[in-house]
Amino acid sequence: MRKAIGVDIGGGSIRASLFDETGKELESFVSPTPEHLDNQSFLKILQDTIRPLAKSGIGIGVGSPGPLDNERGVMISSANLQGLKNLPIKKSLVDEFSLPVWYENDANCAALGEAYFGTYKDTESQLTITLGTGVGGGFVNQGILYSGYLGNAIEIGHTTSVIGGALCGCGVRGCVESYFSTRGFLGRYEEKSNRRLSHAEEFFQLVREKDAVAMEILEFGTLALAHAVRGAVHLLNPEAVVFVGGITKSYDLFGKTLETEIRSTIFPVLNERLKIGSGASLSGALGAASLVFSKEKV
Ligand SMILES: [Zn+2]
Repeated sequence: MRKAIGVDIGGGSIRASLFDETGKELESFVSPTPEHLDNQSFLKILQDTIRPLAKSGIGIGVGSPGPLDNERGVMISSANLQGLKNLPIKKSLVDEFSLPVWYENDANCAALGEAYFGTYKDTESQLTITLGTGVGGGFVNQGILYSGYLGNAIEIGHTTSVIGGALCGCGVRGCVESYFSTRGFLGRYEEKSNRRLSHAEEFFQLVREKDAVAMEILEFGTLALAHAVRGAVHLLNPEAVVFVGGITKSYDLFGKTLETEIRSTIFPVLNERLKIGSGASLSGALGAASLVFSKEKV
């Protein structure tokens, strides 16, 4: 059975795992990354993390936050990995290990992983939406990832939900990410209550305790997200819309409202086939390994 190496570059660590074609993780190595980084030291940590697996895989798939250039295999920069700039990930791994290397943003990897191994894996097409610090997305049609120009497609978090709305990290007002993400919830909560929460769990705990401000922010954010998804469903006509990421741990607090709003506002004919739900919480490393197993690469 073919085996692939999947590498997940996160904010504080790098994880490299070996998977077989059923998605089973056979071996895994994790390296923390220091707060202060430069390109050379980061690439050395990356290579050292992968090295014990290099003889066992047919290729290496890498996922990371962007913006990036998937054709040249370069991480242009990352908000969570300060100090790195124009990082030549693909070249450094091809030179070191002489294996084929694919590199995509982490939301695209998550989408491919869900399409191959997730809750709705037998569907013709899937739109996966990642709900975490920000909002990302990926679209897989008949097993093929639609990655767009240099890998920047399906940035659904930066579609406008509220014209003239809250300022987003991208510099534009009213993005859905400003209303339904960790960043969005904490920002909106601070505006309304002058209180700075530290993470999404704290926000959702307030919702569970029926805090009126938190409930109102979640309600509005859910509608903002639903209408962004409505737009995407009309553009892409996916068979499944799958929500993944840390915020889906609280899916019980918003999933029903979200699904009802989407279903009641899209063209009725689309509901005949559409499946909506939370995904399988697969690891980022498996998503990245899916790049190697991708039908496009066979
Ligand atoms: Zn934005």
